[in-house]
Formats: sequence, structure tokens, C-alpha cells
Amino acid sequence: MSNNIKKIAVLTSGGDAPGMNAAIRSVVRTCAYHNVGCVGIYRGYQGMIEGDFKEMNARSVNNIINRGGTILKSARSTEFQTPEGREKAYKNLCDHDIDAFVVIGGDGSFTGAMLFSESYDFPVMGIPGTIDNDIYGTSFTLGYDTALNTVVEAIDKIRDTAISHNRLFFVEVMGRDAGHIALNTGLGAGAEEILIPEEDLGLDRLLESMERSRRSGKSSSIVVVAEGDKIGKNVFELKDYIEDNLPDYDVRVTVLGHIQRGGRPTCFDRVLASRMGVKAVESLLEGKTHYMVGLVKDKIVLTPLDQAVKGKSKIDRELLRVSDIMTT
Ligand code: ATP
Repeated sequence: MSNNIKKIAVLTSGGDAPGMNAAIRSVVRTCAYHNVGCVGIYRGYQGMIEGDFKEMNARSVNNIINRGGTILKSARSTEFQTPEGREKAYKNLCDHDIDAFVVIGGDGSFTGAMLFSESYDFPVMGIPGTIDNDIYGTSFTLGYDTALNTVVEAIDKIRDTAISHNRLFFVEVMGRDAGHIALNTGLGAGAEEILIPEEDLGLDRLLESMERSRRSGKSSSIVVVAEGDKIGKNVFELKDYIEDNLPDYDVRVTVLGHIQRGGRPTCFDRVLASRMGVKAVESLLEGKTHYMVGLVKDKIVLTPLDQAVKGKSKIDRELLRVSDIMTT
């Protein structure tokens, strides 16, 4: 491996996601394994601008593989979106003899990394860390699998009360622009309908589906709704609409909110994070830059950062069909 790179920094940026700590651990330990220095940057790009750095070694990341959130903290930095902010960040990296950085975050974080590296010819590598799974170039982002399991567990609990009281529950899950969480948890939790940003089910079909469900003998139902569902009504408006049109239904709403981001990462996310961290560091040491590490067909691969940012992750439409069949 090339040894132009003597010190690598790691930061977490944008929304936190389970598995980020496991990825930090992997980056730090891979640096230690290859005798390369490692620096943790606190509070994302804002910490890069303010010089909030800490040298890390293999022991700095003991006992974090199982923890949610991020020990490096995360932040959203508007200052990094300005050339002046990025210049301050560059100066700090130079002052600490940092030769490259690994950013764990979403597409906003990758856009920032690209702008930065283009201005300063600075090696960067991205690791996709976001529960939404909305990044092109990987079939799984870090935290997505954990979020799916958290949501399914929550819906299972909601189902208990739905059955006991013969109720219809609208459960809102995260996903403003992407329906991955709604689609997979809806299928996994046996939802009657799944409303996602990519597909307009339409209010008429929703009503028809609810009526059909009643006629077929079901006394309770779950509808999973992504935040950005294409019908364009929020869960409370959907509740009102169903109550106005199907007065027999006793409707309730649960918004799962931030519990979806928290918690111990699943084994899958820990393994993925470990693999991605190794690939990110070793790719930098091989002289590669401006890539995102991703999982494609169970292989860890690199996708150019600009493609990862511009490309669109797609939902698996076959899952919609499977879900339809399951609700017969
Ligand atoms: P999530 O998917 O969780 O929202 P994200 O990485 O997309 O994660 P953002 O808040 O969009 O989260 O971006 C994180 C940070 O990346 C921003 O606070 C900002 O510092 C930096 N960033 C985002 N967009 C740009 C940009 N166009 N130019 C420079 N920096 C940017």
C-alpha cells in the first residue's frame, strides 16, 4: 500500500444512525493496523472548522461497537457550506498534519466532502450512514437494518392494542423522499397498506382497501405511512379522512419519530460498518479518493462520490406486489 498518507481523520455528519460508532471503531482500528495516525473530529464539519480534534488509537474505541448514536457527535454546519468555512477547516487539517478524511453521513455530507476535496485536492472517502437507505451505490446504508428492526418491533406492539380494540392504526415512519423503511417494515409487520413517496396509492384505493379488509372479516388493521407519502396528506389528515368516510372504523395514529434513529445496532449493521471502515481506510492508503464505500451483491465496492450524490436509490417494486398478495 502507498504510504503517502500518514494520518487519517474520521467524522460523523448529518443525522446520526446506529452503526456509526462501529464504523468509527473500524476506521480507527484499521489505521492502527496499518500504522497510520488517526484523528477523531467532533461535531462533523463544524468541529473541523473549529479544530475540535482528538488523536485516537485502537483503545480509544473500546466498547462502542454496540452503542447507538455517535461518540464523535454530529452536527449540521451551515458555515461549511461557505468557501470561508471550508478554508478554516482546511487550515485546521493542515495544522494537525491530516492527509485524508473519512466522512460517515448522508448525501449532504458527501456533497460537502466533494466541494472540499475539489478546492484543496484533499483525499476523502465516504461511508453511508443514514437510516433512510436513500443513497445510490449501496443496497444498505448504516443504521437502516437497525431502524427496520426497531420499527417492526414497535408495530408488533401497536398490533396488540389494534387487535384488542378492533382499531385501525396509521403508523408514520421516517422517509421524506424514500419509502424503503415504510415498504420493508410494512411488509415485515403485515400492514394492510403501505403509503410511500414513490407511489401514489390514491385516497379512493385506500378507502376501497379498508372496506375490503372489513368485509373479509378483519377487525383491526395497520397502515404504514412514510413521512413523505405521495397522497400528500399527513397521518392525522388520513385519520380524519377515513373517519369521515368509514364511520365504523375506530382510527388511531402513532408517529414513531426519533426512536427510529436510536438504539443498539443490529449484528448486520455492526458487520457492515466494520467492513466499510476497513475498505475506506485501505482505499485511501491505496491512493484512491472521492469514493463512497457501499454494499452491492454482498461485496464491498466503491462508487464515485458524485454518482452516489446524484444517483437515485430505487425501491424494490416487487415488494409492493408481495405486500398486495399478503393482504388478500
Ligand atoms: P442525513 O441523510 O442524515 O440528512 P446528510 O449528510 O445528508 O445526512 P445534511 O444535513 O444534508 O445531512 O449534511 C450534513 C452537513 O454536510 C451539513 O451540515 C453541511 O455542513 C454539509 N453540507 C451539506 N450540503 C453541503 C453543500 N452543498 N456544500 C457544503 N457542505 C454541505
